[in-house]
Amino acid sequence: MSTFLELGLKEPISRALTDLGYEKPTVIQEKAIPQIISSTDDLKAFAQTGTGKTAAFSLPILEILDPTQSNVQAIILSPTRELAVQIGNNIKDFCKYLKDVKVTTVYGGSSMEDQIRSLKRGSQIVVGTPGRTVDLINRRALKLGNVQWLVLDEADEMLNMGFKDELDKVLEATPETKQTLLFSATFPREVEAIARNYMTKPVEITSGEKNSGSDNVTHEYYAVTERTRYPALKRIADLNPDIYAIIFCRTRRETQEVADNLIRDGYSADSLHGDLSQGQRDSVMGKFRKKTIKILVATDVAARGLDVNELTHVLNHKLPDQIENYTHRSGRTGRAGNKGISIVLANGKEKGKLRQIERIIKKKFIEGKVPSGKEIVQNQLINLIDKVHNIDVNETQIGEFLPTIYEKLEDLDREELIKKFVSLEFNTMLKYYENSKDLNDLSSRDNSRARSTNDNMTRFFINIGRKDNLNPGKLIGLINDQNIGDKIEIGAIDILDTFSFFEVDKNFEDKTLEAFAANQPDFDGRSVNVEITKKERSGGGRRGGRKPFGKKDGGFGRRRSSENSSRSNDGGGRRSERRSSDRPKNSGDRNAGGFGRRRRER
Ligand code: AMP
Repeated sequence: MSTFLELGLKEPISRALTDLGYEKPTVIQEKAIPQIISSTDDLKAFAQTGTGKTAAFSLPILEILDPTQSNVQAIILSPTRELAVQIGNNIKDFCKYLKDVKVTTVYGGSSMEDQIRSLKRGSQIVVGTPGRTVDLINRRALKLGNVQWLVLDEADEMLNMGFKDELDKVLEATPETKQTLLFSATFPREVEAIARNYMTKPVEITSGEKNSGSDNVTHEYYAVTERTRYPALKRIADLNPDIYAIIFCRTRRETQEVADNLIRDGYSADSLHGDLSQGQRDSVMGKFRKKTIKILVATDVAARGLDVNELTHVLNHKLPDQIENYTHRSGRTGRAGNKGISIVLANGKEKGKLRQIERIIKKKFIEGKVPSGKEIVQNQLINLIDKVHNIDVNETQIGEFLPTIYEKLEDLDREELIKKFVSLEFNTMLKYYENSKDLNDLSSRDNSRARSTNDNMTRFFINIGRKDNLNPGKLIGLINDQNIGDKIEIGAIDILDTFSFFEVDKNFEDKTLEAFAANQPDFDGRSVNVEITKKERSGGGRRGGRKPFGKKDGGFGRRRSSENSSRSNDGGGRRSERRSSDRPKNSGDRNAGGFGRRRRER
């Protein structure tokens, strides 16, 4: 293994790298730096994000460029604003001791005038997103006639994001004599076409196997159904008390829904997607970097360029449409020498994609079992005990309180004391996972009839259905409006065409009948009639997908409901979840206690 000096870099650069804590070059740096310094040949590099590719292309440029000339000598294109800013900042760090080197970063969503002013002052290196770079070329504010290096970073992503025309324009604005350095984690046809059309006999280097994932990442998959996808996600998060993860979703809506649910269930989570303003995105990313947020729910595009090295997990809530993107996702973990786990939640249909992905990453998925409540509690318990062992005690601060504390605890012996402290922390978790289901039992999960044989629930028939515009959300609103009791738990719901079924905690069986009889509610102009029915009632119908509602609770620094606290899609895609404990005590207003209230609030 060489040093940075041995790779041909001058002392001021090597000193800046030492300041940054870079002790030795990464694989891609070892290969790319001497190659670019010693040859003007074009370069095609297969490199994942997190392999140190920014330094791999920018250090040799810093080594060779002429700091006495202030014209643009290198243009670096990257797919997103975040990545561009990150690259720009990295390069500024690298040239800490190269006083005359100037870097300008240009990207949309920020003042064009400021960027033009910076360019006018003279910059040898410009980092930009394709759209803004072309705008500045068109305005003649950015002149690329003297460019010696064109870097296309994450070329596959730029093409994925539809920047083909912009890339063509920038390529045309640069001289034929330039050296093109193309970095990409995957090489689909479109990227190969760019390489073919715009590069001359490029030298190929790789930080590992082409298109394959990082060696530091373990790939796991968990079999789920649509009903268990979210509970399984929560259990995986719960099993890992120190989780620091990105959950990838396919669409903005899915992203927002998963994030909303996690936040509601008390997780330290937030969402990142294209519907957010730039300011909101910056704020979320800032919090995630500082670990104020531990779980980031994001779309593929929004998470690009997020420079976080210590992710413990990448969770694929749903697999990407383009399976090549899986490599990008999983490459967010296992960076800078750390180990990481990439987890896929896959239903029966999605399983086929796993085989295709295995061919790309050249690794097998390890089949994981969704952890049981007991396993989670055990893990959390051990983690707590480890933390007790490792906690630093501030003797001076705590000292003055100790005599009173000792006195108050005098009557408890060691065993009792341990039991009580552990219970203080764990009663919530134990309660939460009490009677939790085995989420690996796929057969019963997909069978609503099986769900309705829960002995603790009573199944009711109600004479309204889909034709009356009923959906699970409205039905829960209707039940809640009857003022049956604050702690009522509503179980499975089956909405059929002209009638429906719902389950209610057995303890509320009589009260439910009495309330409906006394209130004689109507729904959409139809008077409502409710009867107890047999659980094994035959007849098909859509599954309501509803699990018993839980209790609002606290613990583990999170607000918790029961694991079975549930939500459903009310058919129109609106999130129609609510807990029974959210109900106002007195819901005289028909809408006050049900979904109407939530919707009005939004
Ligand atoms: P990149 O692939 O350029 O996004 O780099 C991934 C991360 O690794 C960044 O946070 C870099 O600061 C860090 N990094 C890059 N090269 C080295 C190195 N030689 N030693 C230690 N960290 C590095």
